[in-house]
Amino acid sequence: MHFTGRTWRPPYEAHSVIIQVTSGCTYNKCRFCSLYKKECFRISSMDEFEDDLAEIKKWQPYARRIFWTGANPFALNYEHLKLRALTVRDYLIKCQTMAMFASIRDIKNKEVWQLRKLRAMGINGLSIGVESGDDETLALANKGYTSSDILEQCRKLDEAGIEYYFVYMTGLAGKEGGYQNARNSAELFNQLNPFFISVDSLTLFPDTELYHMARQGLFIPAEEKERIRELQMLIHNLKIRTHLFANTVSNFAPVTAYLPYDREKAVNELQFVLDYTDEMEMKEYRKNLKSLG
Ligand code: SF4
Repeated sequence: MHFTGRTWRPPYEAHSVIIQVTSGCTYNKCRFCSLYKKECFRISSMDEFEDDLAEIKKWQPYARRIFWTGANPFALNYEHLKLRALTVRDYLIKCQTMAMFASIRDIKNKEVWQLRKLRAMGINGLSIGVESGDDETLALANKGYTSSDILEQCRKLDEAGIEYYFVYMTGLAGKEGGYQNARNSAELFNQLNPFFISVDSLTLFPDTELYHMARQGLFIPAEEKERIRELQMLIHNLKIRTHLFANTVSNFAPVTAYLPYDREKAVNELQFVLDYTDEMEMKEYRKNLKSLG
């Protein structure tokens, strides 16, 4: 298999076969992220891709879901995505879905009719690290788009019937910014149809811009308990029917909920953590995190 550089897939794709389509990130400017800092964006050649498909066919000929790795393979244009999707079908006859990371920017250059066609070819399941739906937080993180971009582009996915998942990050708004971030993000997400929302919590790693901003006093990180209250606020304000998974390693207290049914239960679970855990214990936990995965 042709894996180069950092290979990253979300925890919920653990049962998918993975194949590299791109490496690195086309943007690489989010202030909290160091994942692909040392890599240039590169598209795997069709030769490499077909070699890898042949290998997958040998070991998993009945694979039903394949995850395309790279920070954002969806950045490829319509014709290129179409070629890859059809090639997957040449090799893996049972493959039903091809999932991948995508940025809001990557949807912009595609028309709804093109998205519909890609969906029909099996492209479905876009993991979108929006991190927030609040304009101030998006600007602070230097995500490079606004809440109205998220709304406009994800509505196109809704129209085309492409399933997508959001990643939200608690703590990203900094000290005392969590409530506003959660409220405004929920208000935005309520106008869309994310199949689920996966929640991470900001961990400052030394090779990120936000870490250096924090050292210079330009960014004041949120306390751990504030993050949990932020998550409570997000859960409380989400009115859509969706799953919420706040159970990655960056969350001090793992919580999952099927909303709106589990709303009270999830909020109460988090309240228990707030009432019975010491802030220092939580800080210690984060200090020992080596990576987000
Ligand atoms: S968060 Fe995603 S889009 Fe932003 S720099 Fe990292 S990989 Fe690229």
